[in-house]
Amino acid sequence: MIALFLALQVAGSSAGTPAPIFLVVRDGQTTMSVPVTILGGEPSVRADVLMRAMKGMLITGTNLHYTLALPHARLYLIDGIPFAKLDSLTVPLSRAPQVLGGQLYLPFQFVSEVIPRYGGGYFYDVALGELRTFVVTAAARSPAPRVAAAPLPPVRRRASTPKLVVIDAGHGGPDRGMSGPIGTSPWFVEKDVTLSVAAKLATVLRARGVNVLMTRTTDTLIALADRGKIANTNHGDVFISVHVNAPGYNTAAGARERGFETYFLAEAKTEDERRVQDMENESVKFETGANAPKGDPLNFIITDMAQNEHLRESSDLAETIQNGLIDVHPGPNRGVQQANFAVLRGSYMPAVLVELGFGSNQSEATFLSDQANQRALARNIAESVIAYLAHYQSRIRGAR
Ligand SMILES: [Zn+2]
Repeated sequence: MIALFLALQVAGSSAGTPAPIFLVVRDGQTTMSVPVTILGGEPSVRADVLMRAMKGMLITGTNLHYTLALPHARLYLIDGIPFAKLDSLTVPLSRAPQVLGGQLYLPFQFVSEVIPRYGGGYFYDVALGELRTFVVTAAARSPAPRVAAAPLPPVRRRASTPKLVVIDAGHGGPDRGMSGPIGTSPWFVEKDVTLSVAAKLATVLRARGVNVLMTRTTDTLIALADRGKIANTNHGDVFISVHVNAPGYNTAAGARERGFETYFLAEAKTEDERRVQDMENESVKFETGANAPKGDPLNFIITDMAQNEHLRESSDLAETIQNGLIDVHPGPNRGVQQANFAVLRGSYMPAVLVELGFGSNQSEATFLSDQANQRALARNIAESVIAYLAHYQSRIRGAR
């Protein structure tokens, strides 16, 4: 037990904040204790136990989203993503929240820094390992609580105007992307449809007064890494990569796969997300020279803060686009997904990848090839982007 205690202390101090074995949550005369667990060498607490102790609630959403509903604040988390979100604020975390054995675990930094700062009426007493509700009598009883002092990195806000949307038509040149439908001599070619829809999207956005930059306007090959670079060099505000899906197997069951989905950058979580990720990252093999990304994309570790800052916004943008498409796409709605796309990796702005449907499916290939349908999809995505930008603008104004 002593050895364990020492291990806990060492682990705690290595994370920057000493963590107790049990966290005490004190609300007036009531106390509850929350066990502190060591995960991967770092102190962590179970989100549901912490929420119960704080008279709050852990709400499990879809797509690995979680909400911590506290009496005076709501914090949003995604499993595997080292950020918490609170209204317009994106708060970096020392480590990503993590689901183990069906339970969501939070880094202890959440208790020592994030909740005192953003939780609405709590302070953390390092000496006692105690999270206290902030009431006058409690403050009078123990003056000058030692709140963990390490400042959180500043939250970066983007400049307001003018807006530039970077549109990336997937594939091009020798990289044809997927072709289909399954069971016919292929007449549907992804690179042509992505370019056609991307061009229509650009037309609609320009007509609505938004600046647009396309990574390609002709049938050319652009390296995946260069697509992001083009966006960064021109200071894009939003990056949208347009693609068409195909299943991992050329069978009758594969031919029946249909629907649209929108991705944002994160490590792939499900087999299906991995399949799409691997398929889209295949384009790397068409690239030569120094720009071709190296290494196994599945082992990619998110290290670039400039990019990480936009994970939340990318997730919001993906939700907005995906929910908009319900109105014009026959479906099914396959939801917002996360995967580690090479094309999104190098873009330091909110970035998403839209899979418009399955070109491998006869009816969807026909739907996606139709010019009127392409215009409808483009108009719909444009409206979502404009709504997202307006929402973003109002959040920035609200924060001033
Ligand atoms: Zn593609």
